[in-house]
Amino acid sequence: MRNVLVVAAHPDDAVLGCGATIAKHAAAGDAVHIVAFADGIMGRTGPPKEDRAAEFAAHARAAKEAAGILGAASFVTHDFPDTRLDTVPGLDLARAAEGAVAFRNPEIVYTHHFGDLNADHIRVHDAVCVACRPLPETCVKALLFFEVPSSTEWGAQAGAAFEPNWFVDVAETIELKMRALKAFEMEMRPFPHPRSLEAVKHLAGWRGATAGMTAAEAFVLGRRIEF
Ligand SMILES: [Zn+2]
Repeated sequence: MRNVLVVAAHPDDAVLGCGATIAKHAAAGDAVHIVAFADGIMGRTGPPKEDRAAEFAAHARAAKEAAGILGAASFVTHDFPDTRLDTVPGLDLARAAEGAVAFRNPEIVYTHHFGDLNADHIRVHDAVCVACRPLPETCVKALLFFEVPSSTEWGAQAGAAFEPNWFVDVAETIELKMRALKAFEMEMRPFPHPRSLEAVKHLAGWRGATAGMTAAEAFVLGRRIEF
């Protein structure tokens, strides 16, 4: 059994980026721990302020439900300011990521790709890279960057295109990802929005076909260390 850590800016990012891979890890007996830095509520047009508490509770329920569907061992959401991670000192974000790494002792870590239109995603990427820098007795053997539909595909405009070089066959678990995304229905959009269930399924098909499989999630390998 391996420990696996997924660090995302917002709870739905973890499912969008690597939900089917999480389910595959879990099915193999790995302990997958998910950490989100902010609740993701402010990043979209929502109800008036007085409904924020109810909305926060809905997001918490969705995260719990998604974790159950995917078989994740834990799903924790920090209360850093959503859409404003760039107002938080980088050291604080790095400390939070370091805390998750120290607590979960992961062999594999998944997080955002550095080419992304969403500033929160980039800040989390940076924090995780700091937390996973190789030091003596480091536990992290593989650092992988995922893509988030509607955000990462335009990363080239931010200076770095997502060019995957790591493909995970998720034919057996893609439907679990779709079910988990339905728990986040408040974050999903109608097709042809890239953050629609149909588009997510199409992407899995295309990533799979790219590597000779019927469905895949694609990643950029940030680092691999063999001990
Ligand atoms: Zn996000």
